[in-house]
Amino acid sequence: MTQGDLTDLQLRAQLERARVGHLYRRREIVDGAQGVQVMIGGRACLSFCSNDYLGLANHPEVVKAFQSAAAQYGVGAGASHLISGHSRPHHALEEELADFVGAPRALLFSTGYMANLGTVSALMDRHGTVFEDKLNHASLIDAARLCQASVKRYPHADLNRLGSLLANADGKKLVLTDGVFSMDGDLAPLARLIGLARTHGARLLVDDAHGMGVMGAHGGGSFEYCGQPVKPPVILMGTLGKALGTFGAFVAAEEEVIETLIQRSRTYIYTTALPAAVAEATRASLRLARSETWRRQNLHERIDQFRCGAREIGLCIMESETPIQPVVLGDPDAALAAALVLRQHDILVPAIRPPTVPRHSARLRVTLSATHTAAQVERLLDALSHLPKSSP
Ligand SMILES: *Cc1c(COP(=O)(O)O)cnc(C)c1O
Repeated sequence: MTQGDLTDLQLRAQLERARVGHLYRRREIVDGAQGVQVMIGGRACLSFCSNDYLGLANHPEVVKAFQSAAAQYGVGAGASHLISGHSRPHHALEEELADFVGAPRALLFSTGYMANLGTVSALMDRHGTVFEDKLNHASLIDAARLCQASVKRYPHADLNRLGSLLANADGKKLVLTDGVFSMDGDLAPLARLIGLARTHGARLLVDDAHGMGVMGAHGGGSFEYCGQPVKPPVILMGTLGKALGTFGAFVAAEEEVIETLIQRSRTYIYTTALPAAVAEATRASLRLARSETWRRQNLHERIDQFRCGAREIGLCIMESETPIQPVVLGDPDAALAAALVLRQHDILVPAIRPPTVPRHSARLRVTLSATHTAAQVERLLDALSHLPKSSP
């Protein structure tokens, strides 16, 4: 890149191209707490775009745990975990998360993005190969880039292709996959991925950001749901900012992997620890997520309701049994127009456009929550049924 590419003129031209192509991104300013009703510009909107799948982000017990921990531990952690930032609430949360997913140990990271970057680059170097599902989350894509290993991408969930790529690679091998794919909502074929990884001496890192708390009878995530244990070759990454309603992430694995991350993971070592109050709030939300099974029941009822209703009105939905329910419209402008129409009905659903999703698969990305009522889902379906028809 020459310096000229960064002049205000060039940047303006680039922004204009995004605008013309209906790819320009804007932020909304939200007043008040996250929930199925959010306040935007003084209007109450019915939201189908949050990842707060269990309705815990603003739960009174979670808020109270946060406040009383802040009174005791202050707000900032003040240092990284390896210096003096690793407090008792962090440690207790790590033990509880390990127990939750059935792994020997868990390690907290400040975000899921950082957990993926830090884990992949602690384990891999330019002598190894990283294998990626084509629909993996951006943080897994960037993680592979950062670690300098050679990167092989396989078509979504195509295990034959993955098998032959694995068979033809030497050295360290690491397969990266979403557990629940963040834009399509489908589940990775975990049992078969584990089998393939075993056969080829590879490790398997599963990013379960959207499965954690949601899938499995106790909310343990995609592994609990598939009846697979979190043990080698598996390394699990889970986030706390989605169903658990707080902030942060963790990696769960056997002792040796966790100790390696503590020694070598740069996004673990060179960053400030999460506030201890966030850890305490997460301990509270984890207790609720585990024990209040009615939340998952409600959520899965709403998912079924949405899918039945969407089929009835002829929408193009995808194979997803998770809270992520995409309605594929095709062109970016169709997705954008649909989102605008919903918005005029005070319903918030984001239009997801390339490059986040493949070309010609721009979509409305509906996400459901345990705290949506049947009437609210009905209201969404009614608004969707009045959209102008388009064929993806
Ligand atoms: C949200 C998300 C992340 C990032 O987690 P943060 O804690 O928000 O940084 C990583 N992977 C997937 C699949 C996600 O959906």
